[in-house]
Amino acid sequence: MNQTLRINGERLWSRLEEIGQIGATAGGGCNRQALTDEDQAGRALFAGWCEAAGCTLRTDAIGNVFARREGTDPSLPPVITGSHLDTQPSGGKYDGIYGVLAGLEVIESLNEAGVQTRHPLEVVVWTNEEGCRFDTAMMGSAVWSGTMSLDDAYALTDRNGASVHDELIRTAQLGEAPAKAGAIHAAFELHIEQGPVLEAEALEIGVVTGVQHMSRHRVIFYGQEAHAGPTPMTLRKDPMMALGQCLPRLYAMAEEHGPDSRITFGFVHASPGSSNTVPGKLEFTVDIRHPEASHYQAMLDSYETIIQEAAKDFGLEMEFECFWEAPGVTFDADCIDAVQESVNALGYSHRRMVSGAGHDACNVAKVAPTSMIFIPCKDGLSHNEKEAILAEHATAGANILLNAMAARAEVIA
Ligand SMILES: [Zn+2]
Repeated sequence: MNQTLRINGERLWSRLEEIGQIGATAGGGCNRQALTDEDQAGRALFAGWCEAAGCTLRTDAIGNVFARREGTDPSLPPVITGSHLDTQPSGGKYDGIYGVLAGLEVIESLNEAGVQTRHPLEVVVWTNEEGCRFDTAMMGSAVWSGTMSLDDAYALTDRNGASVHDELIRTAQLGEAPAKAGAIHAAFELHIEQGPVLEAEALEIGVVTGVQHMSRHRVIFYGQEAHAGPTPMTLRKDPMMALGQCLPRLYAMAEEHGPDSRITFGFVHASPGSSNTVPGKLEFTVDIRHPEASHYQAMLDSYETIIQEAAKDFGLEMEFECFWEAPGVTFDADCIDAVQESVNALGYSHRRMVSGAGHDACNVAKVAPTSMIFIPCKDGLSHNEKEAILAEHATAGANILLNAMAARAEVIA
């Protein structure tokens, strides 16, 4: 493609503001949790815009909404883009919403430019990405990609006992289309970064090449409770000493794996929790992440060695387990190239990066060639009413989405 297309940044921004009024919170954010009245109202607003743009809409059995712009060859698999319209209870106005409305903006911009594509285009609203009201994040895309069964999703309940199935019916979001991926030619998700890297480097676009490998571990050291006064330091079985040996070694180990490694100790609990008793039991969690599989695996191996050595050195019994793991995702090379070529053509400042958070695109990537685009957000904040982006970054990201989708969907000359 030798022409660069442009979206209408003012229209995109005004729609972000308009949909942000639904479930608006006093702190300037949004509370539009999945399958609430507010979510239904947000989806209805979106659907109205899509119909006015000439799209045909379909909803599947888990409430995912697909707005389709036909290609010149309707038999070809679509190029899709999607994200979510639901928010956290005290969420922002852009996490997810931006990617959905930018997808609609792609369609409107092609309509106005009179540009046809061989492949159809679809904009998807994935149901319950946030996983706060119903405790499974990325639920709609998980069902669609075959990662989660429809029945398991239907059976999830909120704190008041309302099930996903009941709430799909109540909010008129239970569609007839099967919640199952068909053939997809290419998929993109445009999202705010939710981290501080692009802003810190004053860059406009993140060309996202994958999602990092991540896992969470629980370690318990068993020592011996003893009086803090009479018990000499050398005669203790003190699990806190073992932790004291582990922490600098684990931080140093993470550092050896470069700037992309992450290690976090978010929970530490000593029992019995008395200031003048040597703890008999110490429990802590370790969150380990790395974008590259070889480094990630090496970090896991080193972590085990380090904690086992500490237990041995201090004569402690121990237990450890991995209680959560999400394998990393490497995005599709052609989709990444389509984003990179759009960035080059439009001249935006950019870098390649991996996502630190999970997204619907992780599920989509299991069944379709997929990649993501990031724009900066203020102070890296997200899942926060203060979440903020600049209008020019919103425009830049949507321009990249437009050109990447148009390229993969094959513009008719
Ligand atoms: Zn999101």
